[in-house]
Amino acid sequence: MLRCFLAVPVPEEVKEALKELQELLKETGAKVRWVRPEGIHLTLKFFGNIPEEKLPVLVRAAEKAKKETPPFELTLEGLGFFPFQGTPRVIWVGLEGQTEPLLRLQEKLEKAFKKAGFPREKRAFHPHLTLGRVKDPQGAGALRKKAETLKVPPLSFEVDRLVFYQSVLHREGALYTPLKEVFLEA
Ligand code: ATP
Ligand code: MG
Repeated sequence: MLRCFLAVPVPEEVKEALKELQELLKETGAKVRWVRPEGIHLTLKFFGNIPEEKLPVLVRAAEKAKKETPPFELTLEGLGFFPFQGTPRVIWVGLEGQTEPLLRLQEKLEKAFKKAGFPREKRAFHPHLTLGRVKDPQGAGALRKKAETLKVPPLSFEVDRLVFYQSVLHREGALYTPLKEVFLEA
């Protein structure tokens, strides 16, 4: 079985900037499992454990869904939390810019994967890059305060591919391995 998800990778300079934000947020001392900077990505669909033979079906679904979506650009925009209010569980950097093609693409992917047997995600799609997951509500409030003092650099990057990743869970955080790339075409 493969623990598998589809995501947009982000370039090195974005990961560098996000790593710096993580370092500043760590100063709060909050107990957070920080995502390895090299593993930061924009999740489009989480499949969970799938039999290996199922992957080609998902790849074909993605190849169909991505037609008529040329490459587009996203920009980092602000720190945010899930849930939006109360004790944070997830801390992330938001994405703005060409969100219309992104939302349209995500919708097409959901439909295509539903046909392939994967139910739609019930939660609304909020494009974000997860920086960390709060492990202990104690001290988590400090993250919100700190976040208000931090500026996210308005870096932009091109979305020109979707990548199927395998996720292997470890105590120190998940390790992601690319399995298959699907390119957006102009
Ligand atoms: P860990 O679970 O150890 O904190 P992780 O969440 O980074 O690590 P996975 O659980 O394998 O690793 O998740 C891979 C990606 O899929 C992440 O971007 C995660 O946010 C997303 N994801 C995981 N579970 C779900 C889910 N049930 N619904 C939507 N997205 C999910
Ligand atoms: Mg997880």
